[in-house]
Amino acid sequence: MSKVDTIIAELEAISKNPKKAMDDFKAKTGKGAVGVLPVYAPEEIVYATGYLPIGVWGGKKQISKAATYLPAFACSIMQSIMEMEIDGVYDELAAVLISSPCDTLKCFGQKWKGKSPVIQFVHSQNRNIEASNTFMVEEYKVIREKLEKILGVTITDEAINNAIEIYNENRAVMRMFSDVVAMYPQIIDPIKRHAVIKARQFMDKAEHTKMVRELIAEIMKEAVVPYKGKKIVLTGIMAEPDELLDVFKEFDIAVVADDLAQETRQFRTDVPAGTDPMERLAKQWQNMTACSLATDRDKPRGQFIVDLVKKHGADAVIICMMKFCDPEEYDYPIMLEDFEKANIKNLKIEIDQQSVSMEQIRTRVQSFVEMM
Ligand code: SF4
Repeated sequence: MSKVDTIIAELEAISKNPKKAMDDFKAKTGKGAVGVLPVYAPEEIVYATGYLPIGVWGGKKQISKAATYLPAFACSIMQSIMEMEIDGVYDELAAVLISSPCDTLKCFGQKWKGKSPVIQFVHSQNRNIEASNTFMVEEYKVIREKLEKILGVTITDEAINNAIEIYNENRAVMRMFSDVVAMYPQIIDPIKRHAVIKARQFMDKAEHTKMVRELIAEIMKEAVVPYKGKKIVLTGIMAEPDELLDVFKEFDIAVVADDLAQETRQFRTDVPAGTDPMERLAKQWQNMTACSLATDRDKPRGQFIVDLVKKHGADAVIICMMKFCDPEEYDYPIMLEDFEKANIKNLKIEIDQQSVSMEQIRTRVQSFVEMM
């Protein structure tokens, strides 16, 4: 097994088994984990407590009990999180952070059925004014105080500033990884790319950075060769379940960049420099762009993706439309106009974490590749 394969196999194993990652962390540090629901949260405050921030993005699960608490038109991520909550999957978490960017999430804290205490918070949507920063500082102070109380710890400014540096370093390395994958799609297929990115949700970011840095160095020892398949940019909330990526791989589709909320949107905006960590974190939210969940009247997302396509010489965009996700559905017609103006081929597929069959998607992807 090559060094590249060994590192990827390790990250893949972590990405597929968050419970083990949590148990290993506990055995090593004596501390547990804090769950972070989609899409954005000031994870650095959690990291500063010594607990492991762990992503809670649902998974493949047959839905039955969740239907009692959520309408049938709630998105599939929240359906699966609710089902797992009821089954006690998240009961070991010391706390859970829930943001409120959409109608489904707004009431999710009240509906939480797990045993872990919930900290729900709000992101300002009028983000261009200074009042946004003032508001976010207050929201983040509440998170900090609640975490201190629940976990019985003191969170210092120094610890949060230190966490910010660790996270910014991870963000920079992950952006580098994404660009390296675009150069070496014959080495990193869509499944491996996703696993490396997903593992960061369940790992100490400092360790993840170290492994990905090593991975990049190993990949870059290889020669850059022309790719024989098609190159695409993905956009949407997530590109799961894994069977979807299997379909891409089957048709030699390489993911050369993404604008997925679960992937690069998590690391494309650094926390700016400064001394007050709460102000720094607040300003990061103000600096976020091209995301359906961060209101921007200029709607730059379509052009942002067009630029990604041009930068990486991609053949097309695949829109992974999360079933029943209003914010993503509202962005779609605007993005479509931008793609059509730029003459960029695109395909919209519906994402449902509970999908048992990929046949319809497989046929559509196959025709799309033939058309390209
Ligand atoms: S996928 Fe969309 S609807 Fe579901 S929680 Fe995320 S933003 Fe809300």
